[in-house]
Amino acid sequence: MIALTLLKAVLVISAIAAGLAAVLTVAEAFLRDYGPCKITINNEKELTIKGGDSLLSALTAEKIFIPSACGGRGTCGLCKLKVLEGAGPLLPTEEPYLDEKERADNVRLSCQVKVRNDLKIRIPQELFSIKEYTARCAEIKDLTHDTKLFRLELIDPGQIKYVPGQYMQLLAPVYEKSSEEVYRAYSVASDPAQKNIIDFIVRLIPGGICTTYCFEYLKVGDTVKMNGPYGEFRLTDTDAEMVWIAGGSGMAPFVSILHDMKNTNSQRKATYYFGANKVEELFLTEQMKQFEKDLPNFKFMPVVARPGQGENWNGETGLVTQAVERNIKDTSNYEGYLCGSPGMIDAAIKVLKDLGMNENKIYYDKFA
Ligand SMILES: Cc1cc2nc3c(=O)[nH]c(=O)nc-3n(C[C@H](O)[C@H](O)[C@H](O)COP(=O)(O)OP(=O)(O)OC[C@H]3O[C@@H](n4cnc5c(N)ncnc54)[C@H](O)[C@@H]3O)c2cc1C
Repeated sequence: MIALTLLKAVLVISAIAAGLAAVLTVAEAFLRDYGPCKITINNEKELTIKGGDSLLSALTAEKIFIPSACGGRGTCGLCKLKVLEGAGPLLPTEEPYLDEKERADNVRLSCQVKVRNDLKIRIPQELFSIKEYTARCAEIKDLTHDTKLFRLELIDPGQIKYVPGQYMQLLAPVYEKSSEEVYRAYSVASDPAQKNIIDFIVRLIPGGICTTYCFEYLKVGDTVKMNGPYGEFRLTDTDAEMVWIAGGSGMAPFVSILHDMKNTNSQRKATYYFGANKVEELFLTEQMKQFEKDLPNFKFMPVVARPGQGENWNGETGLVTQAVERNIKDTSNYEGYLCGSPGMIDAAIKVLKDLGMNENKIYYDKFA
């Protein structure tokens, strides 16, 4: 009996000691002064920064912008770059985002690598052309109960060049409900010919840091900061017939792409399936009708999952993917372009593949 009590006491003391050690390690990581650390980029540029921060934050502070959509939480997997020396072992938080080849090539998630000593890194040359922009909020327009369009007029630099389909990282500053600055990705929804304008279509995520800032705090006349453009989502230069699938704010890049198709008098065939739960969640339908008039081979197919009581709806119903299945029997000669929630995109990829589309002809941006 005494032995058992003693054993329990020893176990409790060890648990407390282990807990204390873990707390001390975390505290040490916070408090430790790593001193100045040198980051050598592409063997040509050297930065000396104060150690302790993540590599992503350190580079952002030096106005070198690496794509990231989750604000450094290690959940989007976009902020990859090569760390040739000094990063330490791969972290469990990075593992799901790196395949075998990337691991062998020293690719790391820059939001997870901490600058605690000198580092040698490699960054694709094109990222150096990404700029930080200051803009004035010129207009805020309600599109649905939870989706708004934000029109931003560029101040400095006063113009931007981007490929329709690309996104920007908008900075949500510290505000009443958030004690930290965060960057979030938003696809550009404007006409690329209007070089001083950036439109975003933003859906409110309840409790979300950046969308709450945009919906509750950002006012017309306020100044915002963003950087970009980023991303590979864009039309190919083939003339293959296209099927586009989007839901909610996934509308954004297609608006920009449609403006560009109109500007270039595109003859490409595209059918755009846009999914909403109710009729009241559809938006920009008049603009889509106008694009149908302007572009001879463009068709807009709004799909309403469950029209609400009293909602008069004669169009497609059910899931957006079911509407695709009803209308296209063989997708093998099409290209697929998808934008929206990860769930919708995964379902759409499956349907397009089941109907014959090769996976390498499916292009998408998951809004995660
Ligand atoms: C390439 C790219 C382009 C994007 N373009 C757009 C766009 O044009 N318009 C747009 O509205 N959004 C877009 N997003 C999503 C956007 O970047 C943010 O993730 C989203 O606005 C939420 O940010 P937040 O700071 O308000 O929420 P956070 O504070 O980041 O998140 C709050 C909580 O909500 C969850 N959450 C985050 N996003 C979603 C979501 N979409 N649905 C459900 N739960 C979520 C998080 O997991 C978290 O638990 C895009 C994302 C990517 C990767």
